[in-house]
Amino acid sequence: MPRAVEDDVHSSFAEFRTEDATCVSVQCRYCQQVRAKNTTRQRAHLLKCAAYRAAHPDAAIFHQPEGDDAIDDSIVGAPAISHNGNGDPAGPENSFTAQAQQPTNFDMADHTALGFTPNPRINSTPFVPTPASAPPMHHPRPSLDGTPAAKKQKMGTGVRKSIGTTGTGTGTGKPEIPLADVHAAFEEFKVNPEDKTVSARCRYCNNTRAKNTSRQRDHLMTCAGYQDILRERIPANHLRYQFDEHDVASSLALPVPMLNLDFRLSIRVKPMLHLGESKFGDKAWVSCVGGQWAGRWGKGVVLPGGQDEQNSVSETATSLKAKYLLQTGDDSPALIICNVQGWLTGDKEIMERLQDPVKADNVPANRYKFRVTMQLETSDERYQEMSTGLWAGSGSRRGAEIVYDFYRIN
Ligand SMILES: [Zn+2]
Ligand SMILES: [Zn+2]
Repeated sequence: MPRAVEDDVHSSFAEFRTEDATCVSVQCRYCQQVRAKNTTRQRAHLLKCAAYRAAHPDAAIFHQPEGDDAIDDSIVGAPAISHNGNGDPAGPENSFTAQAQQPTNFDMADHTALGFTPNPRINSTPFVPTPASAPPMHHPRPSLDGTPAAKKQKMGTGVRKSIGTTGTGTGTGKPEIPLADVHAAFEEFKVNPEDKTVSARCRYCNNTRAKNTSRQRDHLMTCAGYQDILRERIPANHLRYQFDEHDVASSLALPVPMLNLDFRLSIRVKPMLHLGESKFGDKAWVSCVGGQWAGRWGKGVVLPGGQDEQNSVSETATSLKAKYLLQTGDDSPALIICNVQGWLTGDKEIMERLQDPVKADNVPANRYKFRVTMQLETSDERYQEMSTGLWAGSGSRRGAEIVYDFYRIN
């Protein structure tokens, strides 16, 4: 599938591992539905996901021929997949176990191609649906937008208590259920058509009561059926080890970070200086003689003088801390400090080849694991937004060059 479509599919789902830790599940960021990881099926889901369509009416995915109409996205609106990963209908594309070995959503082709075409859509804020904006379903799933209890929590006595004191007294400490969710959770009806009184039946336990929004909300806070579904929708509640269900933490929905490829950095280095073993570890020093970078928000050079301090703690693991100075290509260039920290791990034989300036060039980056975190610092007004960002990086160590792809964590 074309790159833009593939990016849209991957950035529209959050990945997490199921409780047996062997399978990867994904959750649609727009409707929160959980399913086994399978790109083809995920794409089929987006084509039918009302919340996704509402957020991205012009998405590239809608302009691509579907090609695989045979795949029936039959679990839309159905309960979450079973946690052992067997819930996904069997199919030739159902290879999520193998995909679980991939560190990111991108395949190898993405690591070797320098595709820096900005795609503003990927950086846009996901639309968070509520049942009010999504088409009605037989059993509406509560929307979990990660919003903390912004409103005051109602107590059993009718006294309202303020934020910050939740979790004590008669309050549950749980975030208040949005009004739209309360309405969606109840079916309204009149016992007799000429009645003035409207009744409301909870869709999760069939409990019937007179229509009264605040009482309906109170009911949902203790309705076992509704609370079960809320819990089910939280990815952390599918992990192998979980919080006790009475713990408030087990009922909080949090935003899922997204990784978006942001820029590639190539650092030209001098041969490694080996400082030898000491009580501080087995240290090596790698000096930067220059380089270049290019990505979504600009391109430029790496100034000479940065350095990378490495510490081999064993034959298979080396930690590193590096600082480089990036210069933008603007007419009046900005200077940005790039702070990198992470680990290079791999088999002993691979780690030895990486030490050799000639042999290192022939070791593919997927033969070892070179993963870093990165932060940028600048005093330049034009790039202030960079100073509060966080990046995850994947690296390749070559004889005279270190290359990183940095993914911004959004
Ligand atoms: Zn969806
Ligand atoms: Zn109920």
